[in-house]
Amino acid sequence: MFENRKVGWIECICGSMFSGKSEELLRRIKRGIIAKQNVLLFKPSIDDRYSLDKVSTHNGNSYESISISSADEIYKFINNKKYDIIGIDEVQFFDSNILKVINKLADDGIRVIVAGLDMDFKGEPFYPMPEIMAISEIVTKLHAVCSVCGNEASISQRLINGEPASYNDPVVVIGASESYEARCRHCHKVKL
Ligand code: ZN
Repeated sequence: MFENRKVGWIECICGSMFSGKSEELLRRIKRGIIAKQNVLLFKPSIDDRYSLDKVSTHNGNSYESISISSADEIYKFINNKKYDIIGIDEVQFFDSNILKVINKLADDGIRVIVAGLDMDFKGEPFYPMPEIMAISEIVTKLHAVCSVCGNEASISQRLINGEPASYNDPVVVIGASESYEARCRHCHKVKL
């Protein structure tokens, strides 16, 4: 019975900033390594060039990773070698082509583990995370602690010069000091 059972699926770790997504991704990756599995870890590059890098967590954990500018580059690095686990951090920064890529990897028998922000600082879905969550077999939503009231926090609060950012503020505000903290829905604020 079940002798034709195949491996390969998608696990999605999501949540706000400071919820421990990268920490959980690395925990699963390291368990794979202990089990002598072949593991490859990717993250999006910030400057359109791929490079060797590492995924680091707020707790100081890190593991070597490859920075890529498009999801298709993953195939190039696999290059006919057999991998058991492919991890992708900050997966919300890839375009929707990532859906096709991770579906194919899972179809080919690979355990795919992705981690990413499910909402932006406005509290709106961070695409393509909603689609990634939909096609994943396993979705884990992590929470941070609200820096105002101590509730479970699900949203990343953007602050500019210590004040809640406006809905239409540019990605980079010249000359301003920008920071983020985790907040619950009741303490999260967006200026209109
Ligand atoms: Zn709160």
